[in-house]
Amino acid sequence: MEVSINNIRKEFDRFAALNDVSLKIASGELIALLGPSGSGKTTLLRLIAGLDFPTEGQIFFGAEDASHHSVQDRNVGFVFQHYALFRHMTVAENIGFGLKVRPSASRPSKTEIRKRVSDLLDMVQLSGLEKRYPNQLSGGQRQRVALARAMAIEPRILLLDEPFGALDAKVRKELRRWLREFHDRTGHTTVFVTHDQEEALELADRVVVMSQGKIEQVGSADDVYDRPGSPFVFSFIGESSHLPVEVKDGTVLFQGEPIGVSGEANSSGDLYFRPEDVELTQERDALFGKVTASRRLAGTRIAEIDISNPGGSNDHQPFHVEIEVPLHAPIELGSEARFRPTRWKIFGR
Ligand code: ATP
Repeated sequence: MEVSINNIRKEFDRFAALNDVSLKIASGELIALLGPSGSGKTTLLRLIAGLDFPTEGQIFFGAEDASHHSVQDRNVGFVFQHYALFRHMTVAENIGFGLKVRPSASRPSKTEIRKRVSDLLDMVQLSGLEKRYPNQLSGGQRQRVALARAMAIEPRILLLDEPFGALDAKVRKELRRWLREFHDRTGHTTVFVTHDQEEALELADRVVVMSQGKIEQVGSADDVYDRPGSPFVFSFIGESSHLPVEVKDGTVLFQGEPIGVSGEANSSGDLYFRPEDVELTQERDALFGKVTASRRLAGTRIAEIDISNPGGSNDHQPFHVEIEVPLHAPIELGSEARFRPTRWKIFGR
């Protein structure tokens, strides 16, 4: 089911939690809403679910304007981080619950419900556990039961709010892969909320980066990581450093000196680069500064560098940047390192 979100505004007591948000989700797509706490991810998910209604704008399911339809009429499935299962019901009863409480006209027979529950258990790879109670399951198994329960009503869209948020890192990673595979098998249009960028980048077809009630960028993992469209996205996704620069005649100047980087129009702005996108150099045109710390990662090393700032800011604080260097590069604490970015982006001021 295709979903169109058109110019949505959502106010709570005049505070705009969402401001002019538009997004088209293709049928069968797996979309991640990614952003810091308070950016509006859950609010947007709740509006799609019909748990709340927009102040302005519309939400279409296909050609149907669903903006003011109730949750029941939308027929969506959702799983929340703490969407507790019914403790006094078995796994099978939990999964079949949504079907059992349907009005009699649309309620499947007992045999049909049993068959459907067994298919769903198969689908979430929990066959054999139907008689267990939730407290006899692991956290990961419980969330898979919650997913099977959401799927039981044959939802048009699946909405997941930090579904693995409460699980430990290893189980999270396993479930993440499992969910991608599950999605590819079932092909449901799925929207999930996360503040974990790794989860979003690994799992989603497209990532929607949100900040302060607005969409900053929508794109594939490669788009948002390799081609961030704003300083916010550059800083929020992955690691990065930035320095104030000027561009003159195609040459980028930092504190009036060329740094071995080219730029387009004459302008001033901030040069952003990732730690892995630099090279050590002996050239004159380069950035240089004192190595203040160095830490080993699995196969590389991160060096922290203070670039002196003689005239720049009022308090003469050095600019602090981080660069990735080969594990055995001749980088010594307290000594000088010279480097230049090999990939970068300048955002104008
Ligand atoms: P988190 O990752 O912390 O869950 P989020 O990105 O999902 O954050 P939302 O829960 O959508 O953010 O909240 C967005 C903003 O709207 C926040 O500033 C929040 O305080 C506010 N907000 C959300 N729900 C309500 C409400 N019912 N009443 C008042 N303000 C609300």
